[in-house]
Amino acid sequence: MKNADVIIAGAGPAGLMLAIELSLAGVRPLVLERHPNRRDTPKAGGLGGQILELLRYRGLLERFQAACPGPAPAPRFPFGGVHLDFTRLADPPLHALPLPQQHLERLLDERAGELGVDVHRGHEVTGVNQDDAGVRVDVRGPDGPYRVSARYLVGCDGARSRVRDWAGIGFPGTVYPEVNRLAQVTLTDEVTVLGNGDLDVPGFGVIRAGFTRTDHGLFGLGSSPGAPSVSLYTIEDETTDYDDDVPMTLTELQDSMRRVLGVHLPLAGSTRLSRFTFKARQAERYRAGRILLAGDAAHLFPATGVALNAGLLDAVNLAWKLAADLHGRAPDGLLDTYHAERHLAGARTMLHTRAQVALRRGHDAAAEALREMVQELLTDEQPLRRMGSMIAGADIRYPMPGPNPHPLAGTFAPDLPLHTGQGTTRVAELLHPARPVLLDLADRADLREAARAWGQRVDVHTARTDRRPSDALLIRPDAHVAWAASVDEPADTAVPALHEALSTWLGTP
Ligand SMILES: Cc1cc2nc3c(=O)[nH]c(=O)nc-3n(C[C@H](O)[C@H](O)[C@H](O)COP(=O)(O)OP(=O)(O)OC[C@H]3O[C@@H](n4cnc5c(N)ncnc54)[C@H](O)[C@@H]3O)c2cc1C
Repeated sequence: MKNADVIIAGAGPAGLMLAIELSLAGVRPLVLERHPNRRDTPKAGGLGGQILELLRYRGLLERFQAACPGPAPAPRFPFGGVHLDFTRLADPPLHALPLPQQHLERLLDERAGELGVDVHRGHEVTGVNQDDAGVRVDVRGPDGPYRVSARYLVGCDGARSRVRDWAGIGFPGTVYPEVNRLAQVTLTDEVTVLGNGDLDVPGFGVIRAGFTRTDHGLFGLGSSPGAPSVSLYTIEDETTDYDDDVPMTLTELQDSMRRVLGVHLPLAGSTRLSRFTFKARQAERYRAGRILLAGDAAHLFPATGVALNAGLLDAVNLAWKLAADLHGRAPDGLLDTYHAERHLAGARTMLHTRAQVALRRGHDAAAEALREMVQELLTDEQPLRRMGSMIAGADIRYPMPGPNPHPLAGTFAPDLPLHTGQGTTRVAELLHPARPVLLDLADRADLREAARAWGQRVDVHTARTDRRPSDALLIRPDAHVAWAASVDEPADTAVPALHEALSTWLGTP
């Protein structure tokens, strides 16, 4: 029987990201992917939210930006049939990269390869059992069945996760009785894209850019003059028991548009055609013994644009904790904070995506009034900003132990500009190696001395920053602040609190 420290079932975005982060933390995972080749069917059209900040903190964002086939769109987002227009804010709280999922997976796969991760494609996990000491995983590979034992198994095996079922983890929630069709299409010469993005269709008239609601469903059009293609979107109330394996066709899309809008839109071709159903489901637990879940295996949200953000951030949160456990230096309960923190983050995403369903699905005058009112509120800066950071997942504050945690504790570490003896840098750069950082912002020898016992487990940096928010920050590898000293906090409270935080997150020295 083969052996591994940790097996990752599934080489989708969550599985690959987990493999990358585990490698940075010194663990070589075994990644098993049932498909023999990388996915080439279209899924997500882009990546948005706090994960972009995390990629920047790893020094990877420029690489991801360079791989985008088109320029980043103006920061406007749909929200349950209402438009969020962040162009009115100088520093929008929500960013997106138009990086199709195939490109995203290729980049993650390349990065994993650079770090020496082996992705075994064509190897399907077919069964699992676990006890206190480890997991045994049955696999069907190209040369027949075999078994691998490991200390942990992480199910990154998507929405229909069998790992989740084998672990006995419930996946309660709702399936909405509607079918969504999403396409990127080229139009025939008969159709004109007008200067404001509307379409002029012969024999029909003008189709407005943005969302149009009719008695038969919702239609969405995204277009700009001169662009090679336009995006089309329909939602119809329908039974959802279509066959996933039957690919969507241009005719199916045209039929749907005819039902929703009453238009026959002449189409020349497509670069993307997909059909999906919105589900709101969240795993009851993200951990059952030695089996953990991340990505779509753990949650499905009933709105677009948030799932990858949540799944990749799960992977980042889990990797360093799992690595600490595998290296034998995890403090008690560290691995359980994965569920505590990421289930909370998932529930927050569920909250606003479910609210979007309620906003979007109502057809009567009361629902129209609600949408109009929400749209009006979201033209004001404060609610717009708040909604943006909620969608980005940037408003999450993980619960931190201790009686009065600093306001920064549990939040994503701010990217402070730093002046050091060697020049200037930023917090983001210190996080490139994905290691814990103690950032001393007030030349506090007492705090540096307090961390000495943790030796190589934490990187200690001394720097100055203009308008320092605290005297020192302890930053976890996932870029979240574990602890912060107040400005001029006396040693008799700051030193024991730092000891406590280092023990809680990095173990006993
Ligand atoms: C049409 C469409 C549009 C979308 N648009 C967006 C969007 O705009 N923004 C966004 O954020 N998200 C979007 N999503 C969601 C996004 O695609 C998913 O959230 C994402 O793919 C989840 O990644 P994952 O790694 O968790 O799971 P998956 O991508 O599903 O990967 C799971 C992997 O596990 C493998 N696997 C399954 N079972 C086994 C097994 N037993 N053994 C070994 N391997 C196994 C699968 O082959 C697969 O490769 C969209 C989804 C669809 C369908």
